[in-house]
Amino acid sequence: MKFTFDQELEECIVCGSSDINYFTQDHKGIRIFKCNNCNMKFMNPQYTDQYLSDFYAEYQSKDFKHHRYGDEENPRFAKHQDNIQLIEEYINPGKFFSIGSGNGFDMKVARDRGWEVEGYEVDPDFTKELADKFSIKMYSGKFEDIDLPAETYDCVYMNHVIEHPKNPGEYLSKIREILKPGGILYIATPNIDSLSIKIKKTLDSLGLRKKKGSYYDTWQHLTYYNPHHFSNILSSKFGFETLHMSNDVKKIENGKVKNSWIDKYLFKSGFRIVLRKK
Ligand SMILES: [Zn+2]
Repeated sequence: MKFTFDQELEECIVCGSSDINYFTQDHKGIRIFKCNNCNMKFMNPQYTDQYLSDFYAEYQSKDFKHHRYGDEENPRFAKHQDNIQLIEEYINPGKFFSIGSGNGFDMKVARDRGWEVEGYEVDPDFTKELADKFSIKMYSGKFEDIDLPAETYDCVYMNHVIEHPKNPGEYLSKIREILKPGGILYIATPNIDSLSIKIKKTLDSLGLRKKKGSYYDTWQHLTYYNPHHFSNILSSKFGFETLHMSNDVKKIENGKVKNSWIDKYLFKSGFRIVLRKK
């Protein structure tokens, strides 16, 4: 697939501020901008919709059909168990909406724990396959355009999704609309200021790495988050209070995620954040 790009953006895709400037480019020449209002970094210009829909048509079905594990032994099950258990510290099982479910394991885990589950995936064929496999009501297409009932869901779950869309700010506004008052938003995403990326950035600045900026993962990620900055803008712009933040990438032992005290220091490659609609 050949990369194709839109016109250059003049506003931040998270908070909408026009106070943005060029930050860096990766080894493929893809340009990264920084927002001076919310401090988020994002690809600019972005891939075209056509490129992304072709990309996701291929990406999703590959992930779904060719994963290496039998369903029940997939380590992702243990991670979703752990995440949803964490959510249940703040809210009792009710209506659960998964955005970008991928292989559907999060929805299965939530349903098994007593949640009433619905979901969304971008590619229509893949979504149908997933909805049939798990017998779950699912939506597809452009997330901002789908018709979802207001103030309906108790929890919206987004596991490594918010770094993918072109318009994360619109996702967050719509999520706020569909959540009940006091509803919970769960987000996990890569940490662009993780320890290992900080080291790689230093090596990049010294010209010591071949693939400069490879950690932006620009082949699939469009926005790059720092946990503290993200928490701040989720509060000030989108009306969410942060209840919990910790590292996302953890050890799995005997089919269970091992959480440790050190995970509250956010330096690993991903973080997770639990928020309540204010
Ligand atoms: Zn911004």
